[in-house]
Order: sequence, then structure tokens, then C-alpha cells
Amino acid sequence: MNMKEDISLFRNIGIMAHIDAGKTTTSERILYYTGKNYKIGEVHEGTASMDWMPQEQERGITITSAATTTFWKKHRINFIDTPGHVDFTIEVERSLRVLDGAIAVFDAANGVEPQSETVWRQADKYRVPRIAFLNKMDKVGADFEMCLESIKTKLNAKPLLIQYPFFKNNHFVGIVDIISQKSYLWESDDKNENPKVLNTVFDELKDSVEFYRQVLLENLADYDDSIAEAILSDSQIPESKIYATLRKTTIELNFIPVLIGSAFKNKGIKLLLDAVVSYLPSPLDLPPLKGVSPLTGKEEHRKQEINEPFSGIIFKVTADPFLGSLFYLRVYSGKIKTGEVVLNNIENKKERINKIFIMHANNREEVEGASAGEIVTIAGPKFSKTGHTLSALNHPIAFETMQFPDPVVSIAIEAKNTSDIEKLQASIDKFTKEDPSLKMKLSDETGQVILSGMGELHLQIILDRLQREYNIEANIGKPQVSYRESILTTSQAKGSFARSLQAKSFSADVSLKLEALSGHESQNQIECKHERVVPKIYQEAIHEALKECLLSGHLCGYPVVKMKLTLENYSYSQETADEVCYKVAINNAFRDAFLKAKPVLMEPIMAVEVLVPNEYSGSIVSDINSRRGQVHNIETKGHLQSIQALIPLSELFGYETDIRSLSQGRASSSMIFSHYEALPPHIQEKILN
Ligand code: GDP
Ligand code: MG
Repeated sequence: MNMKEDISLFRNIGIMAHIDAGKTTTSERILYYTGKNYKIGEVHEGTASMDWMPQEQERGITITSAATTTFWKKHRINFIDTPGHVDFTIEVERSLRVLDGAIAVFDAANGVEPQSETVWRQADKYRVPRIAFLNKMDKVGADFEMCLESIKTKLNAKPLLIQYPFFKNNHFVGIVDIISQKSYLWESDDKNENPKVLNTVFDELKDSVEFYRQVLLENLADYDDSIAEAILSDSQIPESKIYATLRKTTIELNFIPVLIGSAFKNKGIKLLLDAVVSYLPSPLDLPPLKGVSPLTGKEEHRKQEINEPFSGIIFKVTADPFLGSLFYLRVYSGKIKTGEVVLNNIENKKERINKIFIMHANNREEVEGASAGEIVTIAGPKFSKTGHTLSALNHPIAFETMQFPDPVVSIAIEAKNTSDIEKLQASIDKFTKEDPSLKMKLSDETGQVILSGMGELHLQIILDRLQREYNIEANIGKPQVSYRESILTTSQAKGSFARSLQAKSFSADVSLKLEALSGHESQNQIECKHERVVPKIYQEAIHEALKECLLSGHLCGYPVVKMKLTLENYSYSQETADEVCYKVAINNAFRDAFLKAKPVLMEPIMAVEVLVPNEYSGSIVSDINSRRGQVHNIETKGHLQSIQALIPLSELFGYETDIRSLSQGRASSSMIFSHYEALPPHIQEKILN
């Protein structure tokens, strides 16, 4: 791989989109065009597909983020497919963590859809520069102006249109490049057709193209004085200046260049690839990565360069039948070779790198080494997990780890044959290693496994894989909501505990205060009011005990949310202090205070969007009401109604099937976790009994 050295030619990007916007189609066209023009190594083409798990192909959705390397005009594009279904937002989150830029694909007839909003906010959080691709321009109802408006209002971003569509007899047949003023025209929908390129703009489009060109230049002028002066003096602005300024401002997250096309009809994909190269950053364009040295505890930085010490982040772990675990690694600095030993300082273990691969969807190409800017998979590590940093033995560093949301649904699974019990547990254990948003609990007497995840579909896919990949027949329970516990009022309580050990007596007295937190955030807060000078072991025992209290409430033992826990006071004397006494006293006080503060079960509420033709929206809305849901918005989207509602998760099992039968198969829905809310008292009573 001789292109490896020039990191400025690297683009590590992802494609993000609402389900059905055309992410898979766009990805496949990208693979087709890049694979065709640049044959590389051992990579097989033709059958290459980003949706490679059988479940994905059958359900027509994208589940795992497969990393794929392709080449375009001497640039190496590592791209990661991110799923659109909300049950898998965790996949999106971990991809965004390691990406440098992204293509946001929108359905040009629908504009911004709720799920794109969620992913967009995640990308904002990780400061990922983006370009937008308005796909499906061939569709009736495609409306790029509506899309620009919805990007502005719903995503709070500044879109800059850089291509203008050309229609002939209501058919989308061409794209005008607003910057170069070149026109690209297609005669057919053939994949292999090269568009005719004209160095002019058709007369009937001149005014519109000029309008958007002015919008573009005026916006760029805010960030470049020479463009501002040129506009004032009415002089020519060199094209290269426009490209450079748009590149810089895109990378600095000021603007979103907006492109158009039709992946399905093979229009605009090559121009999209050009834009990836032109406007999305190489690793060198990004600031050095911040981390902490485990040796000194001080902040350290790594430039994304080969000459720095090696560092990288593992962002995904998958099981491989031959190699055991395969680890997706983003190399940030320095380089690694096969056979080398690196450090995982979270586990404090040395890990050996036995093999390194470049991935092409489900195919892989073995390579000798990898360096800064690359995304590869490695085999060999034994202890590493998603989110961990690997670094050079003599230059350890730890980057911030990823945060994963708590699961909201669980399901009981039992092997049909007793001989399968161990196999079942072992294979689920494997899945939880791959997927940090999946949790497993064993209930030992029965051999039952409780599996928890982010949604019904998330769990269904796992059950499906159990059967397909491991051949395990299992009895499956009904999906259950994972509740939380909280309180409605404020309360205080004291707790004490004493014990004697080898003729010495120990004791502790504490007083706690509990308060309910308002708002939609589910985080708890812990405060210690009475900090005093006590030996570190007692301080740590106290903090540990306070944190442990919040792991389970005293109604049913579910984790506690939205609570402020204050340690108001505690006793200390050198002679009688004892870690165990502090722990038990805090526990006692917490239980008393909790039960006094009107404890409640909290249920997960989902934000749901249903897309449905007008004539069925009435029955969808009344169905939502019967599910304790609240409709908060209805709007028209193309020829469909978009109904947006908040509905308790416990009322949503089998929802997709139910709304299909209410609408003769015409309705579709998407949902995402919104917040926890107290259960209505009569339902809480039922559950507690
Ligand atoms: P994903 O869910 O975002 O991966 O979307 P897919 O790529 O699977 O596409 C969803 C549906 O939209 C499929 O039926 C595609 O054939 C269709 N589709 C994708 N791109 C286009 C396009 O450019 N024009 C039209 N008319 N349909 C498209
Ligand atoms: Mg897809």
C-alpha cells in the first residue's frame, strides 16, 4: 500500500441518514464507482455489499457498521456505514467517535426526518464536519428548497447549495455545479454512462444558479476578506479561492455544502465523491487528540502523524469464526506492525497484534502494518473492548472512553434443550462483548438468561443470530420494559451501624437528604456537604457506598434516576471509624429516606414518528391515545402525514405490525428513547403486586 504515507489524502468518513433515505444504495454506488476505477490488492468486488449480515439483507436495513476502504482520485476513503434504525444508535455513536467527516443523506422529498435529527446532534457533539446529499431527486415531490429550509430550521445548521438540478419533461436529468458553472447531463439511468459535461449553464437556469452562487459567495465572504472585497468591487473571484474557503469553513463546522442526486438512477455519485475529497477533512486538518497519560495523570496530545508514538481507539469488536475476536481500530498516531505488542492501559494489559486487515465490507485484505489516519481491524488482543485506547508501551495514553446508554427492554431466553444451556450463555456473552448496549443477566436456578437492549428490534436481531449462527433453539419470553425508580418529594434520614471485632468496637452515623430532580435528564447527582479531613480509605468507602445506593431503588430494585443524594453529615473518630460501618449506615439511611420520599417506578417514554397517508391518520391518532400516548405534532410530508408522539415503551411492543394492519400496510414508524416518566399509580400498583 504505497499511498499510505500521505495522510493528507485520507478521508475517514461515514454516511448517516434516516432509514430509507438511500444510504445503502448510495454506499453501493460509491463502492461500484470506486472499486471499478481503482482495483486494489486482494479485495473482491462485485458481490461487495455494505449490508452483509443475512438479517440485514432480509430486513432491508443496515445493522452493523462495516468499515470499508476504497480509493477515489488518489485519495483513500475509509468509510463506515452507520445504521439508520434507532435501536442501533449506539453503532452510530461509536462510528462518529472515530470519523473525521460525514455525508448526511436525505430523501429530497422528505427533508429532515426525526432520526436524522438525532444522528445530527450526535455528530454535533463529536464535531464532525458534514456535507449533505439530497438523494432521490428523481422522485415526484423532490424539493431541494424545502430540504434547505428544514436543514436550517430543524438542524440549526447553515446549508449552502452548491449544485442545481436540471429537469427535462419532469425528469431529473442533470446537475449544474454552482461553483464551476459546469453542467452534467445524463441521457439514461445506466450505471456506466458518463454524463455529458458542458462548460455553460442553460439559459433557463441562469438566474436561479446565479442566485444561489451569490448566496454562497456572500456567506463565504463572512469568513474571507478577499472574497468580501471582490464582491464589493464587483471583481472576479478565483474558483480555487471559493473551493479553499468552502473547504475551510466546512471543516470548521460553519457550513454544510449541499449536493443533489439520485443514487438509484446513478446520478451525482461521482460528484459526491469529488465533494468528499474537496470539502471533508483529512486527519491532518483536525486538531491533535487530547488524552491523559496514565503515568503522570496529566493531559497529553497526539498529532495525527506517523512520527508520533502509536495510539488508536478500538471502536467495534466482532466475533470471527476463525480468528476469534476482530477489533476495529482507528489509528490516530504513529504506526503498528504485525507481531508488535501494545498497551491497553484501561485493563492494564499488554496486547499482541497478530494480524492486521483492511476491510472491504465482509471481505478483508491482510496487511503488514497500519499507520496514523487508517481504519483497520486487528486480531490478537484478548482483553480489549469497544472504546478502549491502545498505545505504545513506552508512551501510554488514554483517550476519553465512549458513553453507552442503558438498555430499556429485556427479554427472558431459555434453551429448549438442557444440553444447550452453556452454549446459549457463552454465545450471548459473545454478543455482549461485541455490542456494549446489550446486557446479559443470568438467573442461575433456571438457566434462564435475561437479555436487555435498546429496543424490540435490537433483541430480535440477536435472537435471530442465536439461531442462525449458533444453532440454538430457545424459548423466548415476552419483551419487558426496564423500569427505573425515583422519588416525588424530598426526605431526610439518619442511619447508624456498629459492630465489634476482636474486642474493639466500631461505629458510624450518617444523615442523608434525597431530592427529586426535574427535567428530562435521567442523571443523578451526589453531593457531600460535610467534607472533613478523614483518611482516604474512609472517604473512598463513603463515596463508593453513595454511588452503590443509586444502583437499585427499594421498590423493585431497579436503578435510580433523577435523584439528588446529599450526604449532610457523618461521624468520625479515629478509634471507631470503619469502612463497613459507613457502608451499612449509608445503606440504612438511604432505604429509610427512599421509602419516605414517595418512591415511584419510572417508565421509558419513546419519541415516535408515524408516516401514513392522510386517510389513515385518524385511526393512527386514536390508537396512539389508547396506548397512553400524546400526539404533539402532525405535519404534511410530501403525500404523507407525519404524526409525532410520545408513547410509553410498554405500549409499543409489536407496534410496527399493529399500525400496518390499521393502515392496510401503508404506515411506517420510527422511535427513539426520549426520557423516563413516573408510572400512573394504578399501573404501578399492578406491577408491584
Ligand atoms: P437506507 O435505509 O437509507 O439504507 O435506504 P436504501 O438504500 O435501502 O433505500 C431505500 C429505498 O429507497 C429502496 O427501495 C431504494 O431502492 C430507494 N432509493 C434509494 N435511492 C433512491 C433514489 O435515488 N431514487 C429513488 N426513487 N429511490 C431510491
Ligand atoms: Mg440501509
